[in-house]
Amino acid sequence: MVPVAMTVAGVDPSGGAGIAADLKTFHQHGVYGCSVVALLTVQNTTSLRRVEVLPSELVAQQLDAVLEDFTPHAAKTGALGSSAVVEVVAGRLSAAGIGFVLDPVRIAKQSDAVLLDGAARQAMIDRLLPCAALVTANAPEAEWLTELQVRNDEQAERAAERLRALGARAVLVKGGHLEGEQSVDLLLVGQERHALSAPRLNARHTHGAGCTLSAAITANLALGASLLVACQRAKHWVSQAIASAPGVGRGVCGLNHLQPLPAGGPGAAR
Ligand code: PLP
Repeated sequence: MVPVAMTVAGVDPSGGAGIAADLKTFHQHGVYGCSVVALLTVQNTTSLRRVEVLPSELVAQQLDAVLEDFTPHAAKTGALGSSAVVEVVAGRLSAAGIGFVLDPVRIAKQSDAVLLDGAARQAMIDRLLPCAALVTANAPEAEWLTELQVRNDEQAERAAERLRALGARAVLVKGGHLEGEQSVDLLLVGQERHALSAPRLNARHTHGAGCTLSAAITANLALGASLLVACQRAKHWVSQAIASAPGVGRGVCGLNHLQPLPAGGPGAAR
């Protein structure tokens, strides 16, 4: 049976981030993708012009339609927009017992447009974080959630511990915004601590890199990988997808979601 994954996130019409990035990533991994829209952005690779958050009741109806028909093997959340949407998503995903990856998207970095309202921070901490299988936070997101400074690996570790103390079952604090020749992501799972390292790329086209990473982890989980293996495979594939970004559009472009998977990697046996 083809594994199924679901994303609850925002729409980026330029195709680099949000639901488009997630579905392309699921597809490239051989995973059937379902998508629930939480917000709509008006943007291209040069600017973000508008953000419209959907009424939570419309998000709830989409979730119900998908979940009464499918039992996703894994899911992820991206830009959710409002505390009301966070509440609805937390309620539906925990009731369905679906292990999900929480990507705490707050801003669109090319414009600093806010994709999550102020009240949503507490709702995310109280309702979504405790039922997530994994939280993937970059340094600014980890700072926002923990109110700790995250500028180096030691601070990233402290923030990861704090996220775990807030109830996250597993935490990945990503090193993409930090310094150093290697980009080191810190993964805490149970009592285990893993440093996932890849050469730091001085790349321009990184739009949607966070979305793509959390989607690749979700796809690997849907394929049956452990959290550690899912994060290792996803980081490796996303590094290659950044390095081979197609450079379409006039501004900051998304990743190469057509990047081949390593031979013998996820989905290879099917
Ligand atoms: N989701 C949507 C709909 C977006 O438009 C963006 C950025 O523009 C993001 C998520 C976050 O993208 P990134 O993965 O680059 O943090």
